[in-house]
Amino acid sequence: MSAPATISFENTEYAFAYKPDKELKKAHFLFKSMGQQWLVNLGTRLTPWAIKAGLPINGIIRNTIFAQFVGGETLKETSAVAAKLAAFNVQVILDYGVEGKEGESNFDHACEEFIRVIEYAASQPNIPLISIKVTGFARFALLEKLDAAADNKSGYMGTVHLEVLTGEERKEWDRVVQRMQRIVTAAADNNIGVLVDAEETWVQDPVDALTMQMMQKYNTQRAVVYNTIQLYRHDRLQFLKDSTGQSRIGQFIPGVKLVRGAYMEKERRRAMEKGLASPIQPSKEASDKDYDEAVAYCIEHLDHLYVVIASHNEQSNLYATQLLQKKDRPLNHPHIHFSQLYGMSDNITFNLAKAGCPVSKYLPFGPIKDVIPYLMRRAQENSSVSGQTGRELALIKKELARRKL
Ligand SMILES: Cc1cc2nc3c(=O)[nH]c(=O)nc-3n(C[C@H](O)[C@H](O)[C@H](O)COP(=O)(O)OP(=O)(O)OC[C@H]3O[C@@H](n4cnc5c(N)ncnc54)[C@H](O)[C@@H]3O)c2cc1C
Repeated sequence: MSAPATISFENTEYAFAYKPDKELKKAHFLFKSMGQQWLVNLGTRLTPWAIKAGLPINGIIRNTIFAQFVGGETLKETSAVAAKLAAFNVQVILDYGVEGKEGESNFDHACEEFIRVIEYAASQPNIPLISIKVTGFARFALLEKLDAAADNKSGYMGTVHLEVLTGEERKEWDRVVQRMQRIVTAAADNNIGVLVDAEETWVQDPVDALTMQMMQKYNTQRAVVYNTIQLYRHDRLQFLKDSTGQSRIGQFIPGVKLVRGAYMEKERRRAMEKGLASPIQPSKEASDKDYDEAVAYCIEHLDHLYVVIASHNEQSNLYATQLLQKKDRPLNHPHIHFSQLYGMSDNITFNLAKAGCPVSKYLPFGPIKDVIPYLMRRAQENSSVSGQTGRELALIKKELARRKL
């Protein structure tokens, strides 16, 4: 028997087939600008302030960074992007990208919006998953209080330590649980999966606990709910093993999304300011090692869990496909899914799709002012320090040169 074909991420013709020349040139300009660290530093500081002050910068944002990384301001606008991706066998993880809004009415509104997104996703051929942030419908300080209580206790990781809350706060928490339950019920009824994003370590314990409770209740036939594992944390490989091991005892099917993690600077800064040990791995290599070990663990246990490989790291994506091939598992195994953020690493997404892997773009949508935190994270991630810009730029340049020929 001949060896299976090796997947390559070098083909830029496939990668950018969905982008006409004009859009590709715009992307080139944007990534070149984001390569300037001083510009990103200035932009990420000034933009949130300018939006709050009501300065007329929406037009510039819409035509540049928003167009690159966001599907649209409304579901209707976003559907055009989703349809474009479907033509290349690329699926979509829809994300109502509003962040940083507090208050019960905003939380109720977010819950309704998530349900609307689920119903919309169910009506589309290529949107199997949506993503949610618990801080979108729960007060950050409430989560912080519960997290601090969990830090002092051990035991079952699905436990929320309600004993530290006042009577009013307990009612508030009940409303959070009800919102989560409504979202997950809608997802289960509509055959859609819900990815629960991982956030800062100082709110993550109650997010994990709530997600575990939902998995226990709803992941009986398949994974409706997925937890996110941030492998830039040095304790998460063990957490992955413990939480999926626990699921076998609890008799449910775990769903996990594997990421490295998006809040590294913030995490390190906070730990230093508070004189705490950093929750982050000592080096990039250590994060990479745990990420790939997590990939291997999930593929080893693929019959018992569902996994989303959410990464722009070519090596990690390649490693996952090689492991599947080595173990004689189909690349389109129903328990595995690959995903990259919209606007990044098209070479990975479109070449995986061409090879027959289930792969999606994580596609946020929402009003410009509400997706600013998401956009600022993308700008920082793509600044020269991370090295991602160089890679994106080189690929775009290669494709522009190929088209010229
Ligand atoms: C579909 C999707 C969903 C996502 N959902 C979430 C989510 O829910 N929560 C979340 O936090 N993030 C999420 N992310 C973002 C993700 O965590 C990363 O920030 C981003 O994808 C970059 O990591 P990478 O695996 O693509 O690859 P790479 O570019 O290889 O790795 C960069 C990452 O490595 C880590 N790293 C870099 N330098 C060091 C260092 N010196 N020491 C230790 N670690 C280091 C950091 O996490 C950094 O972001 C998501 C990403 C995708 C694609």
